[in-house]
Amino acid sequence: RPVALQARALSRYHGDFTVLDGIDLEIRKGEKIAILGPSGAGKSTLIRCFNRIEVHDSGTLSINGQVIDRNTDLVKLRGMVGLVFQDYNLFPHLSVLDNCTLAPRIVRNAAPVDARNLALEFLEKVGIAEQAGKYPAQLSGGQQQRVAIARALCMQPEIMLFDEPTAALDPEAISDVKNIINDLCAAGITTVFVTHEMGFARHVADRVMFMDCGKILETAPATSFFHSP
Ligand code: ADP
Ligand code: ADP
Repeated sequence: RPVALQARALSRYHGDFTVLDGIDLEIRKGEKIAILGPSGAGKSTLIRCFNRIEVHDSGTLSINGQVIDRNTDLVKLRGMVGLVFQDYNLFPHLSVLDNCTLAPRIVRNAAPVDARNLALEFLEKVGIAEQAGKYPAQLSGGQQQRVAIARALCMQPEIMLFDEPTAALDPEAISDVKNIINDLCAAGITTVFVTHEMGFARHVADRVMFMDCGKILETAPATSFFHSP
């Protein structure tokens, strides 16, 4: 399978503090990767560098073999690499449907009817189409999470990043997120998720990367990672 995402000696600093310390990784198309590690390890920062919401200070990052740097077209990059934020970041003043159609209409110049049909298709896929007319504040955390996923999918990304997708979800919603990620994988979409839920990582990921202090300390298939002594 082709390499979807590659980092070489990727580093990021905040003043004197090293947040990412020479990250090397390779993720192949269609893989499901869990990034584990303690709070403050740099997990969020790493995935945020993947769509350049945060910017690495040194090293190289490439997506589909294309180097990501200051010359990268960010609109194109973020269309290709979707991010579902931990706190969802939905637009509070827009309905669920409008949350989903905004970017395709503005960034892709999609016709309103096309944007709407696409949004309804993805809202259906994540099981929340009947809430299309509601506003984010009227939804539970699990429902908002689904909207955030549908919104990201409306840009038809090749890579989906999730920051703590199960934080604050009940077991049923967690199981649904698991199914959604598996469906994305079946559709050839590469997924990378940050989590502290070992059970979730174990049951969803193909491979696990364990981070601490800005470094990847271990990369292993999920099966062997969770069975090592
Ligand atoms: P994780 O997702 O593993 O919890 P983060 O990527 O959020 O870790 O943060 C890694 C480290 O970088 C933390 O110690 C955090 O305090 C620090 N950090 C993150 N953003 C900033 C910032 N803007 N300024 C200073 N330190 C930061
Ligand atoms: P195993 O037989 O590998 O020990 P478990 O008995 O822990 O698996 O779980 C049985 C099934 O329940 C798993 O195949 C998985 O689909 C589901 N499951 C368990 N825990 C979780 C979780 N935290 N998140 C999602 N699915 C889970």
